[in-house]
This record gives sequence, C-alpha cells and structure tokens, in this order.
Amino acid sequence: MDLFEYQGKQFFARYGMPVSPGEIAFTVEEAVAAAERIGMPVMVKAQVHTGGRGKAGGVKFAATIDDVREHAANILGLDISGHVVGRVWIELASDIAEEYYASFTLDRSARKHLGMLSAEGGVEIETVAEENPDAIAKVWIDPVDGLDEAAARAWVAAANLPEAAVEGTVDILQKLYTAYVDGDADLVEINPLILTPDGRVHVLDAKVTLDGSAVFRHEDYAVFDETQTRDERETAAHARGLQYVGLDGSVGVIANGAGLAMSTVDVVNQVGGSPANFLDIGGGANADVMAGALEVINNDPAVRSIFINIFGGITRGEEVANGIIGALERVRIDAPIVIRLDGTNAEEGRAILEPHLSDTLQMAPTMLEAARRAVELAASAGTDENREA
Ligand code: GDP
Ligand code: MG
Repeated sequence: MDLFEYQGKQFFARYGMPVSPGEIAFTVEEAVAAAERIGMPVMVKAQVHTGGRGKAGGVKFAATIDDVREHAANILGLDISGHVVGRVWIELASDIAEEYYASFTLDRSARKHLGMLSAEGGVEIETVAEENPDAIAKVWIDPVDGLDEAAARAWVAAANLPEAAVEGTVDILQKLYTAYVDGDADLVEINPLILTPDGRVHVLDAKVTLDGSAVFRHEDYAVFDETQTRDERETAAHARGLQYVGLDGSVGVIANGAGLAMSTVDVVNQVGGSPANFLDIGGGANADVMAGALEVINNDPAVRSIFINIFGGITRGEEVANGIIGALERVRIDAPIVIRLDGTNAEEGRAILEPHLSDTLQMAPTMLEAARRAVELAASAGTDENREA
C-alpha cells in the first residue's frame, strides 16, 4: 500500500521525525486558504503515487499568494507518469543547505533489513547507485538486534555526512527504523533529508509503502487504504472475489491456485510471450467463477489471447470443463482461448471440451505446448491488427 507524500510525513511525525507544517488541498481556493493559514513562502506539491514529481513540474516554490494560485492551477490536473494530480500538499517552505538520502527496506536474500544513506540526496538513488555507488553507505540490520545509537553513528560516519548533520541524522535514522519496523512498512524513504542553514536535519520528502497484509494490526491505516489508486482491472477482479494482478503483456492468464498461476506467468515468459495478468481462480472452477475471470480478462484491451491452465484436484476435470463451456455460453470472448486441462478426471473433462473446439477455442496436452500456442495466437492477433491500421 503506497502512501502519498503527505500521508508518509504524517506517518513519520507519529514516530517523532521533524516534518514541515502543511495542509492538503483539492482545489486552487483550498490551496490559497491553506497558504494563508500556514504563512509564506510555501511549496505547492503534487500528491501522486509516483516519484520524480519535481522534474515533472509538480513541485513549485511560491513566494506569494498569487504564486500559490498559479502553481496550484497548473499542478492540479497535471499528468505525472500516468498519474493525474487530484490534490496538492501546501507546506511551509524550508531553506536548504544540503540534501541527503535515507531509506530502509528488506533484503530478502540477506534476511536482514537494508538501510541506505547518502550525502548525495535530492536526485534519484538509482542515478547515484549507477554513477557513484561509493556515495551510498549501506548497512544490513539483523531484525533481532535492531539499530542502536552506536550503529547509527558509525553508519552516518561511513556516509561522510558533515559534522553539523551528524546528531540530527543519527536521531532521525533511529526513528525511521522504528517507524519501518513497528509501522509494518515494506519501504521508507526520505529523499531529500535536508540540513538547513541553521543546522537542523529535517524530512523534506517521504515515500512509504506499508505492508498491506499487516493492515489488520493498524486500525488507523484504513484512511490510507481509501486513497489507493488501483488498476481498474484489479478493482473489477477484486469485486468478483478473484486474486488478480494486472501486468502489461498480451496473454491473459487464468489458473487455479496461486502456485500454478505463477508458473503459468513464468512459462508464458519462457516461450517469448508476455502475460497480461496473474489470475488465480482458486480451488473451484465452476461456471460463475470462470465467467467472472473471463469477463475481467476480456475487458482488458491489451489481451490478444487467453491461456486457461487448470490442474484438477478436488475440483474434477468434468466440472472444470462444464464450467468453461457454461461460462462461454454466458460471456462473449473476443480473444482466442487455449486450454490445458490436467489432473483428476482430466480425460473426462477433455472429452466434454472436444466437441466445442475450434480455431478460437483450442486445447493443448501440456502446459508448455499450451503456452506456445497462446503466445503464437497473441502474436498473430497483433499483426492482423497492425495490418488493419
Ligand atoms: P520528488 O521530485 O517527487 O522527489 O519531490 P521532492 O519532494 O523530493 O521535491 C523535489 C525537490 O524540490 C527537492 O529535492 C528539493 O530540491 C525541492 N524542494 C522540495 N521542498 C522544498 C522546500 O521546502 N524548499 C526548497 N528550497 N526546495 C524544496
Ligand atoms: Mg524526493
């Protein structure tokens, strides 16, 4: 669950980190009223679930109320990497002497938390990592030990932060670590963390991803959940009770069981295709579930073929086959379908499907063969369309 910058700052403030006073605004007039209450100068900052707002013109300094009006009018409605700005954060502007970078995330392979700190903040950390990797001081923290003051101090020394920034940074890093662990975050990032000319270390930007599976432990996270921007396809799928993740390829994928769905996505990639989604229909594969799954996939304009990969377990092959036929009687599907049906009573199931097979409803004996055919169909559908265009 990704937070907007201002929500990230509210989250940080709960753990005692220094952030600037500010207010959220949905309209130009609200932005002006907020600036009048906060006092000038202010920053007008686009709130979107993506980075690089500054470069895209979504972060502006306003010295006067007229500036606030002008910037808010320009930023509200602005498209930043496909995210349309619906709200701006008005924040008391800070003076900046230096910009740093700090973050925590999980390093799964090391089975530890990874902290990154750099004296070169304000630019994307990927750029620093590429051009000057030595400028990033990394620490791996054993979750059992946590991050004590001595370790934080050694880390700040390794990052070569100036003397004036040491105490403030040591303090913020410990609070940031606590926020990350106690707040069940997957990622916390401050870029830039600034040193002000009068010697204070201060949080100027916040990127926070909370662990959606831990929301039950934090009743107050419900307000963050309401503001999530979801893929339209995912919203439609979740409304039907389906486990769906939107991807950007052309082969629609339906499988029963999360493991099989993941393998299906992998095998489509392996044979040179690209999946349009991950969709686990779970244990049951009756006509209702199958029709819902097909509808969701059919509504995705990028889909050129559909791969239904079912391994019958408790759900027997003939139930699956009847489910597919039943679903196809109910929903009109534009893309050709390839079915692979195996497992319990697969023979019986295939016999039910046999009379319905055609160019647009095919069956393949193995997962690999079915994936190949689905990818071929997606590719030829793509060329047909190119020819028409
Ligand atoms: P991002 O572009 O999405 O990372 O947005 P940021 O919140 O990091 O803002 C981008 C840049 O705007 C920062 O790196 C700063 O250089 C600048 N900026 C942000 N807030 C302030 C502020 O209060 N005062 C000044 N002088 N610059 C700011
Ligand atoms: Mg930033």
